[in-house]
Amino acid sequence: MSKEDIITLPNPHLRQKSQRVGVITDEIKQIIANMEAATISWDQSRDHEVGVALAATQIDKLYKIVVIRNNFDNKDDHSFTVFINPQIVKHEGQVEADYEGCLSVPNVYGKVPRHTKVKVKALGEDGKEFRVTAEGFLARIFQHEIDHTNGVVFIDNIKGQPEAFFRLDDKGKLEPLDYEKDVRNNSLLW
Ligand SMILES: [Zn+2]
Repeated sequence: MSKEDIITLPNPHLRQKSQRVGVITDEIKQIIANMEAATISWDQSRDHEVGVALAATQIDKLYKIVVIRNNFDNKDDHSFTVFINPQIVKHEGQVEADYEGCLSVPNVYGKVPRHTKVKVKALGEDGKEFRVTAEGFLARIFQHEIDHTNGVVFIDNIKGQPEAFFRLDDKGKLEPLDYEKDVRNNSLLW
């Protein structure tokens, strides 16, 4: 499993809702291992970006599973936390717009409004329910990934707002992109 297994827009599967996981079978465990391997493979292919998280839909498995890196600052730390059937139980804090990217939307970034704090409940790989409170960047990641499990891609949240779209140049700097050419004509929007 590698970065080539990550599906990208305009693949319509990214706009489909994932199903909840019932029993955590060997198949589910294999999907989780594949998600982690694909994220690390993608990460190693990018100089200026870190692969911080992935939803199962991004490797074309329509299950509500999200994996999030435990350490965003160290590319050598390949450990993850697994969230099965993740659900936001409470949105808190303010709504702030900040930059967001996605492994399934190559080179496109957006300034997406998100809550600064969320409470999430999920099952671990052992099937036990746990809850976390996330703030700041981690809160943003949860909202982005749980959107994926519901068939929503981050750019859907800024549809019709050309000024919220950016692209990464080869030096790793964000610059405004050509909305008509890069977004609409590439059929990135639903
Ligand atoms: Zn994403």
